[in-house]
Order: sequence, then structure tokens, then C-alpha cells
Amino acid sequence: MTVSQLAKGIKAGKRRPLAKGITLVESSHPSDQEQAAQLLTHLAEDRDTIRIGVSGVPGVGKSTFIEAFGNHLIAEGHRVAVLAVDPSSPTTGGSILGDKTRMETLSSREEAFIRPSPTSGTLGGVAKRTRETMLLCEAGGYDVILVETVGVGQSEFEVSSMVDCFMMLMLPGAGDGLQGIKRGIMEITDVMVINKADGDQEKLALQAKSEYEHAFHFLQTRLPDIPVRFHAVSALKNKGITEVWSSILQFIDALKQQGFFNEQRMSQNLSWFKRLAEDALIEELWRGEHNREMAEQLKKGIINNEILPSVAAKKMVSIIKKADSN
Ligand code: GDP
Repeated sequence: MTVSQLAKGIKAGKRRPLAKGITLVESSHPSDQEQAAQLLTHLAEDRDTIRIGVSGVPGVGKSTFIEAFGNHLIAEGHRVAVLAVDPSSPTTGGSILGDKTRMETLSSREEAFIRPSPTSGTLGGVAKRTRETMLLCEAGGYDVILVETVGVGQSEFEVSSMVDCFMMLMLPGAGDGLQGIKRGIMEITDVMVINKADGDQEKLALQAKSEYEHAFHFLQTRLPDIPVRFHAVSALKNKGITEVWSSILQFIDALKQQGFFNEQRMSQNLSWFKRLAEDALIEELWRGEHNREMAEQLKKGIINNEILPSVAAKKMVSIIKKADSN
């Protein structure tokens, strides 16, 4: 299948070409990467979509929530893609969405597309492929994209830099206001959802909600003119899900009205470009026989105390510059 046939299939909303396109995007083979780039160029187009990040500790109920939320979105006429940025995958080989028993009803829906995170690579690499996968899904007609992450290391920040709205799921009874929340998370949260507000835990969840609400008053949030929203829900009992969706729609509306929506996507694109360019440069640095030989020589020089690391680094860069200008 040619790239343009693939693009056509994706645009027609077909699953097989979409899955194939994602495989191309995830491949590290240079010729696949070349094709993936062509494919993305074919599909580049402005689309009316909403990108939502969903994070929270393991066990908070992310998959239960996404299942309920996704089904609600479908009932409202949307098509939903669920992607994951999973920082644990490079070491464990696992994937947070790998378990097929998760999101059982959602995964059987025609209007849903669920894709586990790529199983290898650095967090930066996984995040890069998730971004590209997101673009493919949007081209395939999925208008709400949910990007899930377990929130290990920098993964929430990676996810927040690729979505329009970042949602944090919390457990009831966390109790101590903002204690126990990872540094920097408050500054990227747009919607906070306290899950498991049912049975014995309902009261605790409502209490946690008002504590968080109170604590947020004293914080500098991401957008000074658009307040963070709080909800207590039960993903298991399907309670409060509609309200979360209305809240997100209001948030997106406010973003658009204030001109932040496009501005945010634009600045995300610019920092993405910068990062890709930097990554490509680093790759270039160690690629090619000549560069590798030079690097080996310089390393030997450093080991033998013949050259300072700082001088060797400058030399390495000047070698590349020279090679470029030839
Ligand atoms: P994840 O690791 O964040 O994806 O969490 P899961 O969705 O796998 O849920 C972890 C456990 O919490 C499961 O046993 C769920 O049944 C349970 N759970 C999820 N949501 C709720 C809820 O709203 N109420 C209650 N009582 N349990 C829930």
C-alpha cells in the first residue's frame, strides 16, 4: 500500500490503515520513519478536536473512569481514541493499556479506538510517538483524544504538553489538602476529579473535593482567568461523569473565547519542533563512521588526560559543522 493510499484509508475512518499508520509512526526503521513523515504531511489539516490528558496513581480508577467517560462521549455522538504515555514500559516491557481486560465495553465499540503505548523507548520517544499517533487518530475522525498516563517521573508533564485540558484523578481521603501531591502537578491541572465517591467513601470524597478547592485558592494555577474545576465522581457507578464532560466543554469554550486554545496548540507545536530538532541533532552527532571514529579518538584522549572534556566537546561539534558545510 502506498503512503497516499494509506492516508486515504485513514481519512475514510478505516481502522486497518489507521493501525498500519501507527505501526509506521512507532517504527524506528529509517525507511519507515521516512514514510511516517510523508504520511503525517498528507494528513496535516486543522480539525475540530479535543485532547484531554488523564492522570493519577495506579488504582485511582483511570481505566474505569475512561471506560465510563468514553461510553458517555460516544452516546453524545463523539468518536474517542484512548492513547497512553507509559514511562514504565522501557524497563518492564509492560504497558498500562496492554491488559485487554481493561475498558472492556469501550474497546468493543466501533466509535472507540484504544491503543496501548509503544512498548519500548525512552519517555521522550514514547511521548513523541503518542503525539504522532494522536494526529493519525484525529485524521481518522476521532474527535476526542484521551491520553492516559500513570504519572511516574515526568510523564504528566509530557502529557500536559500535548493536550488542551489536563485532568487529574485523585483518591478520596487523601485528606491533607495538597500534601502528597507531586510538585508541579497543581500548575498543570485544569480539572480535578476525586473518584470513588460511592459507598463508605462518598463522604470522604466530597470532603477531599472541598479541601482541594480551598487549597487551590491560594495557588497560582495555569490560567489565571480560567478557574480549575473540581468534581467528585464514581466511575464504577457512572455517577458525575456527565458533569465532568460539561465542565471540560466549558473549559475548552473559555480557552477559545480568550484566544488561548489556538495559542496553546501553537506553542505546543513550537516546543515540539524544538525538541525534535534537538533530538535529531544529537542523533546526528553520534551517527556516521567518521563521527564515531572521531568520538572514539577524543574519548581516548580524555582517558589519557591528553584533552579536556570541554575541549573535546567543542572539537566534536566543529567536526560536524565542517562535515555539514562540505
Ligand atoms: P487504574 O489503575 O487507575 O487504571 O485503576 P482501575 O480503573 O484499574 O481501578 C482500580 C480499582 O478501583 C478496581 O478494582 C476498580 O474496580 C476500582 N474502582 C475504580 N473506580 C471506582 C469507583 O468509582 N468506585 C469504587 N468503589 N471503586 C472503583
